[in-house]
Amino acid sequence: MSKAEIGLIGLGTMGAALALNIADNGFDIAVWNRTTSTTKKFFDGAGDLAPRITPTETLRELVEAIAEPRAIILMVPAGQAVDDQIKALRPLLGPNDLLIDAGNANFHDTNRRAREADDLPFLGIGVSGGEEGARFGPSIMGGGKREYWDRVAHILTAISAKHNETPCATWMGEEGAGHFVKAVHNGIEYADMQMIAEVYGIMRDGLGHDNAAMAEIFARWDRGPLQSYLIEISGKVAGAVDPKTGQPMLDLIVDAAGQKGTGRWTAIEAQHLAAPIPAIEAAVVARNLSSQRDMRQLGEDVFGTAPQLIADGVLDIETLEKALIAGKILCYAQGFGMISKASDEFGWSLPLPDIAKVWRAGCIIRSSMLDDMATALEANATQNLMFAPFFSELLKENQTALRQVVSLSATHGLPAPALSSALAYFDTMRTSRGTANMIQGQRDFFGAHGFERTDDGSSDQHGPWAMNA
Ligand code: NDP
Repeated sequence: MSKAEIGLIGLGTMGAALALNIADNGFDIAVWNRTTSTTKKFFDGAGDLAPRITPTETLRELVEAIAEPRAIILMVPAGQAVDDQIKALRPLLGPNDLLIDAGNANFHDTNRRAREADDLPFLGIGVSGGEEGARFGPSIMGGGKREYWDRVAHILTAISAKHNETPCATWMGEEGAGHFVKAVHNGIEYADMQMIAEVYGIMRDGLGHDNAAMAEIFARWDRGPLQSYLIEISGKVAGAVDPKTGQPMLDLIVDAAGQKGTGRWTAIEAQHLAAPIPAIEAAVVARNLSSQRDMRQLGEDVFGTAPQLIADGVLDIETLEKALIAGKILCYAQGFGMISKASDEFGWSLPLPDIAKVWRAGCIIRSSMLDDMATALEANATQNLMFAPFFSELLKENQTALRQVVSLSATHGLPAPALSSALAYFDTMRTSRGTANMIQGQRDFFGAHGFERTDDGSSDQHGPWAMNA
């Protein structure tokens, strides 16, 4: 029997879907799972694809089922499970065999694993698109030595999503570059979702719209500039009916958002890099606050119900759509700004236009706007996206709407942290004379930290504080 071209460990939600996708694209694959009954169940359910799949019961059997030099994908939970799996596998492998961690690893772990692997081939790849993406075409962000990527690129590009025939699978750079780009993707995903949730809240509590009306609005927006997977599914979520009770499903879902930590990693890393991503940070904070349900109930008891209806005719749906367009541009500008900063900091030369391209299909944040972002970044990869002519025009057109929505939210007690932070970012980024002179004055007053003068440019200057004390 001929040997498999690739192996995969971890037949959970993502691993099983990825293995079927690989087989579906004509590659023979050997699989192994910690719990053998899962492997059997997976193989029994593989249908027409079974002839391309070799199920195995031990790691040794798995290794022997794959042609040399081997390539094995790990699709197990990020963290210790990956380290344990690498430790168990390495002694069974030859020096040319490639291990590919395709889970959601923290990129610092991938950096470490790449170094620990020394000369042994190792790749860390970010895979986005959830179970459906993994089965029918994910977006893939590769990291590690280019030569190792090239060894498996034909498989990874074949199984990836396609945007007008272009595969959404790209090598991003050395070591943890792929997992870093995936983390920023997830951070942007948090902010995109949060802004949509805020607009949903304004429609529900400020405008009194029912779920069916909101489903229709999201569906309409999905045919305009906001066209995206997240807007599409938001409409479907808003329109769904609970089969058990006949009530709108959305009304029966507890308002406490879960998270696996990738948004938090992005926010923490942004602080280390001094890369401002306030919309993403606001989205992470909003998820944390959402889980403080008892505290929010106490707040409502003490201060009274906050949201008030916005009077008829004061806020129309088009203004909300425009606010979301502006918010989205500012959020992506921040995400790409962070990638650019990391690229310099880590010496990765991250390909910003290719990153926008790889996100155009297959992943959770796929949207038509990413196509325009790819074009803008191709013209100038180093400038903040908000200054690219196409997007600066859109911001000029839509910033008033964002301002209206944020101010109406504030006056009506409707929380809109991500949209508000996006507006504050916009206003900060278009103010050449800011207010940090006051901060510098304070710092010099209490700590003699020194400041730079505006008149003669001299640095390390001190104020006459003692004279004015
Ligand atoms: P699941 O929980 O569905 O599956 C986990 C798999 O890993 C199972 O096959 C499990 O085996 C195996 N496993 C768990 N612990 C160990 C261990 N210590 N040693 C060996 N095998 C182990 O997870 P997912 O498929 O959802 O996620 C896998 C990876 O993909 C994660 O890193 C996740 O963050 C990432 N990811 C997930 C996405 C999603 O939408 N779900 C999207 C993108 C990435 P067993 O059957 O024995 O329990």
